[in-house]
Amino acid sequence: MTNIIDNINQIKSRINKTCLLTGRNNNEIKILLATKTVNAQTILNAINCGETLIGENKIQEIKEKFEALKNTPHQKHFIGYLQSNKIKDLLKYNVSCLQSLDRFSLAEKLHKRLIFEQKKLDVFIQVNTSGEKSKFGIEPDKTVDFIKQVASFETLQIKGLMTIGLFSSNTTKVRQCFKLLKEIQQQIISNKIPNVNMQELSMGMSNDLEIAIEEGATIIRVGTAIFGKRMYPDSYYWNEQKPLD
Ligand SMILES: *Cc1c(COP(=O)(O)O)cnc(C)c1O
Repeated sequence: MTNIIDNINQIKSRINKTCLLTGRNNNEIKILLATKTVNAQTILNAINCGETLIGENKIQEIKEKFEALKNTPHQKHFIGYLQSNKIKDLLKYNVSCLQSLDRFSLAEKLHKRLIFEQKKLDVFIQVNTSGEKSKFGIEPDKTVDFIKQVASFETLQIKGLMTIGLFSSNTTKVRQCFKLLKEIQQQIISNKIPNVNMQELSMGMSNDLEIAIEEGATIIRVGTAIFGKRMYPDSYYWNEQKPLD
């Protein structure tokens, strides 16, 4: 428990330090707790430390933790690959934002279901800025057209972009990913597409959050640096075969 408070405070001081150096205001940056593999009690502890935004990668984990968390106010984002047969569950378990919208077929199916349930959903478009085949996301040069198409679905409230930076110790290359996301954001803004809001840039994780903040992140997604190392390698979450839907 104290561990978690300490770790969250460390993240906050990393944010503050970077903001001071780059002239940003620290209240522009939200911490999303990346809670994959973290048990409900530990998540509750973190929420009790004042962090109310969590992100999960798998619907199954959301289901398992739902009862334990449901009476504690928090906001839940989905940050993993969403199979379209999980859309009903996404809505049932009160996910307020899908950060990983990455294909038109998914947008279409979401829209249909949302109309049926008379709901709206916040979405971010996930962009593959690293060029790695194993990572999900729209290709950078297709993002503007993709957003023009998705913007016609009035149930989907586009709020920004998300990316996973390159895993590399080469900070120049990591920075290029985040710069690219910022550029795409500016492109979209200049296109003035109706029904599109571009205020959020979700980028930066435990190892690269400083670079992401320097390049304009508004949401950083932090797992390991708060909860410790995970049992499963991230390939379990990211390099799955892409289901064909
Ligand atoms: C796990 C995960 C994170 C957090 O990664 P850490 O390196 O543990 O901070 C961020 N974003 C996504 C999409 C993730 O799956």
